[in-house]
Amino acid sequence: MPDKHTDPRLAMLVDGIVRLSRGDLSSRMKPSAARDDVDAVITGFNLLAEELELVHSDFEERVASRTALLHQAHLDMRTMAMTDSLTGLDNRIALLSKLEEELAAEGDTPPAAVILLDLDSFKDVNDSFGHDAGDRVLQEVANRLVTVVRDCDTVARLGGDEFAILVPGGTLEIALRIANRALAALGDRISLEELNVFSRASIGVRLADPGQSAESILLDADTAMYAAKREGRSTIKVFEPLMLLQRQLRSQIASELRDAIRTNQLSIHYQPVVDLRDGRVLGLEALVRWNHPTRGFIMPDEFIPLAEEIGAVVELDRWVMATAIEQYSMWRSEMSLDDDFQLRLNLSAVELQQLDLVDYVRGLLRRFDIPPAALVLEITETALVTGGEVETYSLLSLKQLGVCIEIDDFGTGYSSISYLRKLPVSMVKVDRSLLSELATGSIQFGFIAAILQLIRAAGLEAVFEGIETPEQVQKLSEMGCIGGQGYYFSRPLPVEETTSLLRSAAKLPLGPSQ
Ligand code: C2E
Ligand code: MG
Ligand code: MG
Repeated sequence: MPDKHTDPRLAMLVDGIVRLSRGDLSSRMKPSAARDDVDAVITGFNLLAEELELVHSDFEERVASRTALLHQAHLDMRTMAMTDSLTGLDNRIALLSKLEEELAAEGDTPPAAVILLDLDSFKDVNDSFGHDAGDRVLQEVANRLVTVVRDCDTVARLGGDEFAILVPGGTLEIALRIANRALAALGDRISLEELNVFSRASIGVRLADPGQSAESILLDADTAMYAAKREGRSTIKVFEPLMLLQRQLRSQIASELRDAIRTNQLSIHYQPVVDLRDGRVLGLEALVRWNHPTRGFIMPDEFIPLAEEIGAVVELDRWVMATAIEQYSMWRSEMSLDDDFQLRLNLSAVELQQLDLVDYVRGLLRRFDIPPAALVLEITETALVTGGEVETYSLLSLKQLGVCIEIDDFGTGYSSISYLRKLPVSMVKVDRSLLSELATGSIQFGFIAAILQLIRAAGLEAVFEGIETPEQVQKLSEMGCIGGQGYYFSRPLPVEETTSLLRSAAKLPLGPSQ
């Protein structure tokens, strides 16, 4: 038996334990033939080392698999952060980063172009058919756009109904070719099961200037798209610096408009509606004007859309309603107006979405003691057909209140009379474009007569606007049309002139022969 003071196995054991503690888990010792107590400790040491090695390698494996998972999650998150989840297209961040890469590319590569597309009436799809339908339309638009680009181009959804195409190393011609293909692809009807919608787009194109930043290219493409929208939608516009100025001017006018409502720069002109049988004044339409301190008179066609854009149209319409109804009550007390004399007010589509509209109208009528039937609210065809819940509630409640609802600008939208007759409306005002086409001879009186018959068949009354000649008066009255309005009788007049007109003439002349 080896001397315990000189037993070399003890030194080996100490050495083995030191190596183990340093992390060398492969450390093992061979027991001696003695099979004594020291060998028992050596065997125990070997077992411990074995166990430690197993635990360690298991641990290493787990760390490796967790690291792989973490890496994948990181990649997934990166993809998610760069992808639009609804369409699977790149998102704004991804597009910008690709555009930046493109702009940073060394050498003589031609500049990149960005095509920006905004759907023209997507809000209507969402409002009328719900968000699920809206989502499906966006997916279909995405699919169509992908088919019109080249492999090297990137289609992205920037958010909402806004898409963009990055055309790397392209010329304006290439970008325009792609933009035209996109316009054509979105021109076809989208059929989704029971749903048939059009989802056309307005398109802006910006070819990058040398040294221009990605953000600024996108902004310019947006300005061009905005110009395309203003030009009548479903068109393509290439960015020009002047567009930026026009946009700035519009946003300046928009900010001045808020003040205009509060600082008495708005006024109302009144245009008579006339009985075509005898020239009797049946009522007045209130038409707002903006007397701008430096820009002069601005007409509503210019600023009502702006007011809608900046969310000021409700305030504007309510000012017109309150002012015109107060004026009307003064006329009623100052002179004798016919019992069926009506005040006509134009209402914006946004107004119909206000839950307190009916209370507001009821409050005004009470305050100025005006019978509800003396009020006609003119609402455009496009505003009426959205069919949202709040709009339907507003229309039904107004009708219940006893106010008359009239479809304004009839003939400019696409709705059928059979649809319109389901709405709680009692009158239809036929758009003046129909009569002006009549004047140029492109439309026959037969067409007007057919429209009049349709309106009557639906149990509605018709008023024709835009009457400018005695011939039009004569033809329309021969057709049995009762209501008419237009410069022939009177232009819209300021309050004082309207007062004189009401005082002096209960009837307006119908024609040279009368
Ligand atoms: P609208 O309701 O269809 O009004 C008729 C427009 O046709 C008026 O233009 C009127 O001046 C014009 N007009 C009348 N007779 C003739 C004619 O014989 N020939 C021609 N060429 N034009 C004629 P205006 O005053 O510029 O108003 C334009 C539109 O602005 C209105 O169209 C209406 O939709 C909107 N609007 C006007 N006032 C208001 C308002 O207070 N609130 C809202 N929401 N919209 C308003
Ligand atoms: Mg009107
Ligand atoms: Mg009209």
